[in-house]
Amino acid sequence: WKEKARKPDWLKRTVPGGDKYTEIKAKLRELKLHTVCEEARCPNIGDCWGGGDGHTATATIMLMGDTCTRGCRFCAVKTSKAPPPLDPDEPENTAKAVAAWGIDYVVLTSVDRDDLPDGGAAHIVATIRGLKEKTKGRLLVEALVPDFQGDLDCVSLVARSGLDVYAHNVETVERLQGVVRDRRANWAQSLATLRAAKAAGARVTKTSIMLGCGERPAEVVAALQELRDNGVDVVTLGQYMRPTKRHMAVAEYVTPEAFAGFETAAKNMGFLYVAAGPMVRSSYRAGEFYLTNVLR
Ligand code: SF4
Ligand code: SF4
Repeated sequence: WKEKARKPDWLKRTVPGGDKYTEIKAKLRELKLHTVCEEARCPNIGDCWGGGDGHTATATIMLMGDTCTRGCRFCAVKTSKAPPPLDPDEPENTAKAVAAWGIDYVVLTSVDRDDLPDGGAAHIVATIRGLKEKTKGRLLVEALVPDFQGDLDCVSLVARSGLDVYAHNVETVERLQGVVRDRRANWAQSLATLRAAKAAGARVTKTSIMLGCGERPAEVVAALQELRDNGVDVVTLGQYMRPTKRHMAVAEYVTPEAFAGFETAAKNMGFLYVAAGPMVRSSYRAGEFYLTNVLR
């Protein structure tokens, strides 16, 4: 399909600002931390880092390098069959830097590392444990993890690491999995990992769907219902935005009203929390959502 020519008004970006934002940015340079927020030039930085109404500051940190072994059609991350080896000091250094940063809620995410026997599970777990230790449990940790190629031992290891939220994104409805995601990913495999995480004791499981990829409304509702039936607690729905011309085109700009309709449908299904809107990203103000809606 052809990309819709003009972005609608509801997708206009605001320039981030505020004292807290400036302070965090300076601190980041000092700590040599790399955030997805900055690297993806996320439009929500002002809101997330500043803590929205002045409460919970949230940021997303990328682990395991900047090169992925997969190539999803919507994603701007570099791809290679053999990315550089993991930095064994990364868990310790990340834990130290994030603890010194002083934010309230961190989302750890990573590239997929299908080249590693455990997909990087032990590395993720070491980072979570380090963060919890160094902040005496004060910092809330969400880990947005790969599907580990369906290896449920890896899922269970991460789910039992002491994290607060186990997140894995299904990205799109079942029919479009092969179009949107790398061929090694699929709906059943992703769903199985979310189910296994819950069974292993993850307190909260979370996933995210991008809209505007050509899905039909009924398919979105069916996907939400299946996620809920598999114990997923939190869901976020946002608009797909094409990172470059080489990536998959946007099929549709979904209206704020349509997002609101999906949000209501999901809430009625009994999700613990639902965030839906054109600018919503899977980690959008995750800290506030968690504190006000999950730990209530
Ligand atoms: Fe991007 Fe994740 Fe797909 Fe890798 S697995 S290409 S990081 S979306
Ligand atoms: Fe960072 Fe996620 Fe917030 Fe964007 S939505 S600023 S990536 S925490």
